[in-house]
Amino acid sequence: MSILLKNGSLKGEKNVDILIEKDLIVKVAPGNSIKDDKAEVFDLTGLIVLPGLVDLHTHLREPGREDAETVATGSAAAARGGFTAVHAMANTLPVADTAGVVEQVWNLGRKVGLVDVYPVGAVTVGLKGENLAELSAMAESTARVRIFSDDGFCVSDSILMRRALEYVKAFDGVIAQHAQDPRLTQNAQMNESELSGKLGLTGWPAVAEEAIVARDVLLTEHVKSKLHICHASTAGTVEILRWAKEKKVNVTAEVTPHHLFLSEVHCQSYDAKFKVNPPLRTDKDIQELRKALAQGVIDVVATDHAPHPTEDKEGEWSSSSFGMTGLETALSVVATAMVETKLMSWSDVARVMSEKPAEIGQLSDHGRPIAENELANLCIVDPKASWKVDAHDTHSLSSNNPFHDMTLKSKVVHTIFRGKFTMKSGQVQK
Ligand SMILES: [Zn+2]
Repeated sequence: MSILLKNGSLKGEKNVDILIEKDLIVKVAPGNSIKDDKAEVFDLTGLIVLPGLVDLHTHLREPGREDAETVATGSAAAARGGFTAVHAMANTLPVADTAGVVEQVWNLGRKVGLVDVYPVGAVTVGLKGENLAELSAMAESTARVRIFSDDGFCVSDSILMRRALEYVKAFDGVIAQHAQDPRLTQNAQMNESELSGKLGLTGWPAVAEEAIVARDVLLTEHVKSKLHICHASTAGTVEILRWAKEKKVNVTAEVTPHHLFLSEVHCQSYDAKFKVNPPLRTDKDIQELRKALAQGVIDVVATDHAPHPTEDKEGEWSSSSFGMTGLETALSVVATAMVETKLMSWSDVARVMSEKPAEIGQLSDHGRPIAENELANLCIVDPKASWKVDAHDTHSLSSNNPFHDMTLKSKVVHTIFRGKFTMKSGQVQK
């Protein structure tokens, strides 16, 4: 059966009808101009049509921590958030440091079939930062890995980082760095500031991130490789990225929805749902991150969706796990932080949440133009929605969403993945 989407606003720019047959977009024409008696018709008047969202940074927890999330539950949360592709981080049990594990995750994703799941390969064996993992075996596997990261840990050894950057050039890979100097962040609990002193929590200085970003930008330029910076969180990181891009260093960067929206002030509650790595920073950092995203100094938004079971998040601050869920709220947080504030347009949102991430991940099936003969991967948004987040109303197995009880603007209403609704009118189609 074909699907006819009538009169939706293409990236917020012009109204169009979109006719979908099987997995393809077969016709795009001006609003209310296509007639097709056999198609299932949806009136999208007042709604925004974006390419399906692509996440570069998702923790799906399977294999090994199926109490926190599985590929199935994480995929459902992703579909609900408007995503048609996610990159699954390597810090599973076992670690995704071999062709066998990345193929296992790849196959699990295909079996669930709600989004494309692209495994990220570990840079070092067991994420231990000692020996390089089997990077080329992962690149040549059926999972076709292009992004490598020890996320959760920093590749802090300079010579190992240099070798990793050199190694991935053979297959045009990219090293995604979790920039955190381990020595400068021992026992660190929150952003280092006047507030951390007042709260008696060990500080996590901005320089612990910036020192690694600066070093890796220089290393990348030296060996002419490709670097991606995970979850940029400070104004200083933005300055270094700006410098690197002016010098045409091959570096890209992501920012999370939570770092665009929440500041260290939330830590005053000692509620561990605000405990995250890197930590929530200051209002000034938030302003600089927003500006950098709007200007393209930061290339993409990535969720760093990090599910944790309740028992890991409800104890004392210092013994709680780092991390927040975010797939289901990402689009709304970005809309509230960036579109409502007039810093970005909907076509900018398409760029930072779909087109650019697909380009960095080298995905040919995502982040494409909404045009004839393209795969029908779409995210349809109600820009007038205003809704209160309920962390317990989730498809994730975990409910550690920091936006609980906050009111956000805009909401994903439908997601179409390869021509099929994976979410229809707010209901995930499992
Ligand atoms: Zn990380």
